[in-house]
Amino acid sequence: MTERLIFERGSPGRGARAQAPGPVASLAPVPAALRRRQPPALPQVSELQAVRHYTRLSQLNFSIDTHFYPLGSCTMKYNPRACNTLAMLPEFLAHHPLAPDECSQGVLACLYELQQMLQTVTGMAGVSLTPMAGAQGEFAGVAMIRAYHRSRGDTARTEILVPDAAHGTNPATATQLGLTVREIPTDHNGDVDLEALNAAVGPQTAGLMLTNPSTLGVFERRIKPIADSVHRAGGLLYYDGANLNAILGKVRPGDMGFDVIHMNLHKTFSTPHGGGGPGSGAVGVSQRLLPFLPVPIVGVRGQESGVGEKQSSGFPPPSPVPRLPPPIFCWLDERDRPQSIGRLSAFMGNVGVLLRAYIYTRLLGREGLHRVAEFATLNANYLAARLREKGFDLAFPQRRASHEFILTLRRQKQEIGLTATDVAKRLLDYGFHAPTVYFPLLVPECLLIEPTESEDKGTLDAFVEALCRIWDEAKSDIAFVKGAPYTLPVRRLDEVRAARQLDIRWKP
Ligand SMILES: *Cc1c(COP(=O)(O)O)cnc(C)c1O
Repeated sequence: MTERLIFERGSPGRGARAQAPGPVASLAPVPAALRRRQPPALPQVSELQAVRHYTRLSQLNFSIDTHFYPLGSCTMKYNPRACNTLAMLPEFLAHHPLAPDECSQGVLACLYELQQMLQTVTGMAGVSLTPMAGAQGEFAGVAMIRAYHRSRGDTARTEILVPDAAHGTNPATATQLGLTVREIPTDHNGDVDLEALNAAVGPQTAGLMLTNPSTLGVFERRIKPIADSVHRAGGLLYYDGANLNAILGKVRPGDMGFDVIHMNLHKTFSTPHGGGGPGSGAVGVSQRLLPFLPVPIVGVRGQESGVGEKQSSGFPPPSPVPRLPPPIFCWLDERDRPQSIGRLSAFMGNVGVLLRAYIYTRLLGREGLHRVAEFATLNANYLAARLREKGFDLAFPQRRASHEFILTLRRQKQEIGLTATDVAKRLLDYGFHAPTVYFPLLVPECLLIEPTESEDKGTLDAFVEALCRIWDEAKSDIAFVKGAPYTLPVRRLDEVRAARQLDIRWKP
């Protein structure tokens, strides 16, 4: 492929200026000292060249809209077009974040109902929508745990327990908040080692951060004894909700005894999120953490302090957009909630993502959310069973998969030198995005596979077929597989250099 840069196209003087609509802004008000001395180095291409260039670039991407994308722990599901269309209604897009509550009743109603629905789905007592990513939700959650202990004068609780299967953001979050991380091992079944946990808890324990189902793709069976053990020691329980897709409407973190949870709305509740954004890490809390929720929160006029105090038992019916006056919904801030850990984002979080989550939840309803968990789990278990049948090794063959499962290529690596990286790269030639590789760190040569509920049986079967063929190829010619991918614009990149010496500037 040549001419991957738009600067390499076109020729001097070429452009599409005549088609720019509207008047050109005058430079007159800009002081001379602030004006650039040379014109910007813009590509000199025709409109058609520009269109073709960007269309071609977009086709180089693997995306959920073009390819199966079984990225474990990330829930790359289909994002219904209706969510995008409705979230991008001009009334939402043009809404100014500083508009007074009186002029914001429609959007406030949506966000208020989203808070309530998430509360219901998770079994928590209150929800704040402001964190802009899962990792920031974790930050909010652990900050609330710390604020809770401090509010009781309990300053000795400086330790956070984190199972060794955890996502890297868990220990990073605790460390960033000045707490010490203590790692808890996993037993051979993929469960938390309960003896080790019991031995680790004590008066220094601020809390435990747990993902359930874990990133090993199994549901923690002894969640009650774990919760009891931590609570008995005076610690709180943090639920990493990245895997909520597996349990939607089936079990609720609140019922498992968790005190605080983040939800990756961009994973479970549908937002295109490849390439690192945009996201939302809404947080839910139990009764005792309510006062500490980050602000702003949407409340109801006249009940300013009452966020979450009434446990809702179902989804609220859609609110009629209130006629003015009187406004019903309002933003609650530090003045209404003096114990809040404060603000985490400008304004009210990633409202575009929140609206998509709102619409997605409304589209599916209670029944639909149950089906999400059922089909996500069914698809994962089907895929795991098929691959096992074909001779692949599951990391936890004795366990039923949740919404994702782990293959280990330890044996293939020993016998023929086939690694998880090789399989990931060769899968691209077969038209599949690679699953998550080398995470979790506990399993050697692992592929963490999450098919999601939105794939059909044909796609899953084709994926099994591709994996079998790659294994066969490796048996007869391992060097060939190690050269993959062959069909993409670039081959294997030096990942360390790409991360450490990234250079994406264009110079003439
Ligand atoms: C994705 C993920 C996170 C972090 O969420 P971001 O939205 O990417 O910041 C945390 N824990 C687990 C288990 C995850 O899969």
